[in-house]
Amino acid sequence: MTRSEDAYHDCHCGSNTTYQRCCEPLHLGLLTARNAEQLMRARFSAYKLKINSYLVQTHHPAKRPPDLLASLKAQSDIEWHSLDILNKPTSKNINEAFVEFKAVFSQKNCPGMLHEQSRFLSENGAWYYIDGIHHDSPYVFPTRNEPCWCGSRQKFKKCHGLKR
Ligand SMILES: [Zn+2]
Ligand SMILES: [Zn+2]
Repeated sequence: MTRSEDAYHDCHCGSNTTYQRCCEPLHLGLLTARNAEQLMRARFSAYKLKINSYLVQTHHPAKRPPDLLASLKAQSDIEWHSLDILNKPTSKNINEAFVEFKAVFSQKNCPGMLHEQSRFLSENGAWYYIDGIHHDSPYVFPTRNEPCWCGSRQKFKKCHGLKR
């Protein structure tokens, strides 16, 4: 996706604003996330756009696997499609927040669902993803007339549903 056409679309994180006004300034290092939800969104967009450096940088050093960059590169055939944040961030203290989300991805045109409760920590004014608990949520295919999972905005039956 080029930058110019990108400007007229919703941000990759699913917010109702453009990428330029939403996640891009975070990816460029011009802004830092104000809260855990904003970081969650920016990290999802980074997964989608494969901005691996941002994913490494915002993964808390204490839980950052040494081979994170290599494993992100190894997952490059995973396409991320949509993010659904299920709660307002909850916390026991102001430096920790939990965000539950469902995200739809696909690998070799086969869709799947990641359902996770992520934990974020704030340190020295910066938020980091630290870890998460995965929930087992089966992926439910759209019905024929629902939007396709791939984000094409076409009905499922006219898009990937054709190939099933
Ligand atoms: Zn965004
Ligand atoms: Zn599709």
